[in-house]
Amino acid sequence: MANATELLQADAAGYAAASAIWSAGGLVAFPTETVYGLGADARNDRAVARIFEAKGRPRFNPLIVHVASAQAARRYVEWSDAAELLASVFWPGPLTLVLPLLADAGLSPLVTAELPTLAIRVPAHPVAQGLLTEFGGPVAAPSANPSGRISPTTAAHVLAGLSGRIEAVIEGGACAVGVESTIVGLVGRPSLLRPGGVPVESIESLLDADLVRHSADDPLVAPGQMQSHYAPGAPVRLDARERRAGEVLLGFGPVDADLNLSPSGDLVEAAANLFGHLHALDSRGAPIAVSPIPETGLGRAINDRLRRAAAPRDERLPG
Ligand code: AMP
Ligand code: MG
Repeated sequence: MANATELLQADAAGYAAASAIWSAGGLVAFPTETVYGLGADARNDRAVARIFEAKGRPRFNPLIVHVASAQAARRYVEWSDAAELLASVFWPGPLTLVLPLLADAGLSPLVTAELPTLAIRVPAHPVAQGLLTEFGGPVAAPSANPSGRISPTTAAHVLAGLSGRIEAVIEGGACAVGVESTIVGLVGRPSLLRPGGVPVESIESLLDADLVRHSADDPLVAPGQMQSHYAPGAPVRLDARERRAGEVLLGFGPVDADLNLSPSGDLVEAAANLFGHLHALDSRGAPIAVSPIPETGLGRAINDRLRRAAAPRDERLPG
């Protein structure tokens, strides 16, 4: 983990340094035209887990992936005519498209929170463009602020909230738009998932159709409230101090387990392994017992996900 957060300049040397940090699984905050994003390599489970740790997010909600061009986006999502139309007009820019995730996208399951869809965007900010081009890979990036605090629009805001918790921030001045990207769902009928930097009217007139509006009390699509589409088929028992007959044990810490989230008790490693290990144990068809996990730091997000996996089926929100 970073001790001091480095302030990098927006030049060739700064881009190379940021790209090297991403390649090594580190976190770099960078300016976009909306707000500063907290970026990590979207293919690296551990790096993405560290985003949630650094922000102190109590839940694994899905993250937006940033790429340098529409061409690059097509490697991760099922492209469509509507996507092509919107991308040709509004990319690069403050528009995020939610599209079906390609099976071989190779992204960490933490990025999509196990949804079959991916939110993806091509930012217009020249520094974001320079960095993403230099890195060449997909960068998962929520806003670069501690969870629950105001989104950062300067490098100083980022440092005020996250100094010492991330490897670096790129100095890119103040963000021009200052509000988040508009999120449009293109799975089924085009829908507005979040209003933002691109006016809804511009999108509707381009598509020549009204966007389906989702109200805040719709638990399936309200931003930040995405329910996972995946719950284990097998019953899940939490806070298990031992393995009972017939159970498989998902361990944490130095226990004899079928699979262990982190034998050393490292919460970042546990978060990185969480979705993969749950899927792997679920495929064995036996009830799943889970070792106790401390309710601190990333442990809160891990326990939130596990509690939803363990909830009686009829108490779960539809999904
Ligand atoms: P933030 O990164 O903090 O700007 O928030 C990202 C927003 O995108 C959240 O409101 C998420 O719920 C939303 N989001 C990310 N991925 C998806 C997805 N696959 N489907 C729907 N919404 C998404
Ligand atoms: Mg945010």
